[in-house]
Amino acid sequence: MNAKQKRWRNRIIVALILFVLVYLIAESGWLASQLGHPGALYAEFALFLVPYLIAGYDVLVKAARGIMRGNAMDESFLMTVATVGAFALVLFPDTEPHMAEGAAVMLFYQVGELFQSYAVGKSRKSIADMMDIAPEFANIMVDSELTQVDPFEVSPGDEIIVKPGERIPLDGVVVQGASQVDTAALTGESVPRQARENDEVISGCVNLTGALTVRVTKPFEDSTVSRILELVENASEKKARTENFITRFARYYTPVVVGVAVLLALIPPVVLGGGWADWIQRGLVFLVVSCPCALVISVPLSFFGGIGGASRVGILVKGSNYLEALAQVDTVVFDKTGTLTNGTFAVTAVETAGALTREELLDLAAHAEAYSNHPIAASVRTAYGSALDHARVEDVEEVSGHGVRATVDGQEVLVGNGKLMRAHGVTWEENAVAGTVLYVAKGGAYAGCIVIADELKEDAAAAIAALHEAGVRRTVMLTGDRADVARAVASDLSIDEFHAELLPQGKVEQVERLLEANAGASAKAKLAFVGDGINDAPVLTRADVGIAMGAMGSDAAIEAADVVLMDDRPSQIARAIRVARKTMRIVRQNIAFALGVKFAVLILAAFGIANMWMAVFADVGVAVLAILNAMRAMSVKKL
Ligand code: ADP
Ligand code: MG
Repeated sequence: MNAKQKRWRNRIIVALILFVLVYLIAESGWLASQLGHPGALYAEFALFLVPYLIAGYDVLVKAARGIMRGNAMDESFLMTVATVGAFALVLFPDTEPHMAEGAAVMLFYQVGELFQSYAVGKSRKSIADMMDIAPEFANIMVDSELTQVDPFEVSPGDEIIVKPGERIPLDGVVVQGASQVDTAALTGESVPRQARENDEVISGCVNLTGALTVRVTKPFEDSTVSRILELVENASEKKARTENFITRFARYYTPVVVGVAVLLALIPPVVLGGGWADWIQRGLVFLVVSCPCALVISVPLSFFGGIGGASRVGILVKGSNYLEALAQVDTVVFDKTGTLTNGTFAVTAVETAGALTREELLDLAAHAEAYSNHPIAASVRTAYGSALDHARVEDVEEVSGHGVRATVDGQEVLVGNGKLMRAHGVTWEENAVAGTVLYVAKGGAYAGCIVIADELKEDAAAAIAALHEAGVRRTVMLTGDRADVARAVASDLSIDEFHAELLPQGKVEQVERLLEANAGASAKAKLAFVGDGINDAPVLTRADVGIAMGAMGSDAAIEAADVVLMDDRPSQIARAIRVARKTMRIVRQNIAFALGVKFAVLILAAFGIANMWMAVFADVGVAVLAILNAMRAMSVKKL
């Protein structure tokens, strides 16, 4: 609790004690014996006014300000009218007095408000805490002395030193040292990762055991940590349909209930003649119930909690609309390379077809792939092993889904699949091995091939099984790779459907076809596409929910995606769906509960059964329970 909330709380406690005292005095009948009727009534009126004003003077002030600004229908206004109305019933001295209710409504309204402010503040803070991944400084060597500088001042290429216990401030590659790195804040993964020379490290992780010298690869504003913070900060802007519905609903609900309250207070007494106090009281109960606060606060808070909880386990959701869509996913489409497989291919064979030796073939291929980001290119360069001479490479052109074309040592070199060879009119020998085959051509003539094999991700099979278990109807794999490789992967993982040898455009077409099929089946069935971002940014944008592998994926994919999985594990998709469903369940519970109780009280009040006591307890109680329920959305660790 902050200082303001503490003062608020103390004020409520003082008012509450006074209220109880006054209530006891009023009930004891002592006033009546001293002052008679109606003197005792006026004395009670004055006495109840004290705790009422202590508890609610700020509400009265807010209401007055609201009226002056012309937006009268806010909750301060409603509470003011309801409580002032209860006190005003003193004008009908022959009926039961209602000052106690007036003061109580204000008191409990304030208790509810204080609780709301506390709960909202607390959940905001816990998300902020958990998101407390922003590094404060970076260590650099200046004149052989370690100096702390703002991470913003460090540029790519600079070397920084990360001591044990410090947070890694910028993304980079380890150039010296070895250590364990705790990635829990980013991925929710509790087992530390090993970081050795040449390993990539990402900002936001904590360096645990040894000092690391890291060569920075990205400026701070593009580093993982900045991107995550930006994502989470902007998430509340993209509102779910349910949230918009509640806002719209509240806009109509309050005026309608207030209107009915006025009619209820005026028409029956006029028509039936008399009974003013009773009907006015029924109208006042309506006013107390007319405030939509439980909904207006708890629904966004539930989404906020769901998004916050998900980010705690390494699932970044860019808005509550995507959480809502995730809960309705019925088809999940996967990219293969880098998504279901590790994308770290190993070269398993090099075969030459011409004059070149194997070493020369690999040398040519590695140089042609010198500038490619594709995982295939990385594996060829790794197999080559030696440092690349970039001066030998010119005119590089990468054709997605085909391969690369470059001029190496002044001669055109092609590295890619059969499609690439065909496109350049090269006759090549089809290699029948199971695996991805890269054909290499030099100067327009076929020179040999490189066979590479990729591994399935450890949790790929479990991920597909978990999706089916979660009720996802269909899983589909799209790949640019060969059909036999695709078939093997699909059957290993029990994927329902696969399409191979697709160009990026082909992937978009497949997704569009599936989207259409879904739209035909049910408007609610959503399609998610999961990719690593190499060649699939267009599909990510096209799907209802685009999910990108964050740690390995390209920046473009993280931009294009709606959900980012920080640790690249496909099993996180089912988890994201479970988090989304839990959040939606909580949202629905809150809506049903709040509306149910409100309508029940409204009906009881119309028939004169519910009094103001019931109304205020219903209102505050519902708000408190709804908020507590909303906070459950944050705990997702076990999902
Ligand atoms: P996936 O859809 O499985 O992720 P991609 O669309 O990234 O696959 O690539 C499809 C195919 O295109 C690869 O299997 C490979 O044959 C070829 N290819 C793409 N990029 C390259 C490259 N840089 N070097 C060689 N071949 C490539
Ligand atoms: Mg890919």
